[in-house]
Amino acid sequence: MNVLAIGAHPDDIEMQCAGTLALYARAGHKVFMAVATNGNVGSPTHTREEIGAIRRKEQEASCSLIGASLIWMDFDDEWLFNDRATRIRFIDAIREADPAVMFIHGPTDYHPDHRIAGQVAEDARIPASVRLVETSLPHIARAPHVFYMDNTTGLGFEPEAYVDITSVMEPKRQMLRQHHSQDAWIRAIYDDASITDMMDRNAAIRGAAAGVGFAEGFREVKAYPRTGSFALLPGFGA
Ligand SMILES: [Zn+2]
Repeated sequence: MNVLAIGAHPDDIEMQCAGTLALYARAGHKVFMAVATNGNVGSPTHTREEIGAIRRKEQEASCSLIGASLIWMDFDDEWLFNDRATRIRFIDAIREADPAVMFIHGPTDYHPDHRIAGQVAEDARIPASVRLVETSLPHIARAPHVFYMDNTTGLGFEPEAYVDITSVMEPKRQMLRQHHSQDAWIRAIYDDASITDMMDRNAAIRGAAAGVGFAEGFREVKAYPRTGSFALLPGFGA
């Protein structure tokens, strides 16, 4: 089946669900990673053009590690809105991937781009399958089943499903390490460790909650029409 994750910025998907995506890829499923903004404010030194180009290359390198297809939407970082143009672009991302299962940001994350990307993705879920919602791509047969990814640092997010990612921590770390430019940015703006260290910390906390080494946490988007179940998450309930 096809699997789609939609993140607001380059590196968001890796942080919250690269382990789960790696498990899907390992099992032979087709993985798509859609990135809404180009990350063009994420640098203490580069120009917007320079850092946007750097981050696209970093995202391409990350996707290639698990054979994921990249959908690069190229909106400006920090300026994502739930407007008609954005909704159409998200509909096309869903139509291009035609996913059975989709991972999106939840409504309680700290960053406005994350919350908007999640809201637009959720709002695009049904129109993507509507024939007369005409965009550059044809409609898909059915709306995907959707899960919220964890929040940054897990604050304000109570997972109801955990995926044991212990066996794919190295690919997940390698994917995050492709986003070299963000280590300097994270230190500059948040005075935090590298993004790989941040991720390791979160995965260990979720792993402890799930009784495994490392885990990623999710919540199912419970909305009409019902399209699937937790069984779509690899290993969940096994
Ligand atoms: Zn982000």
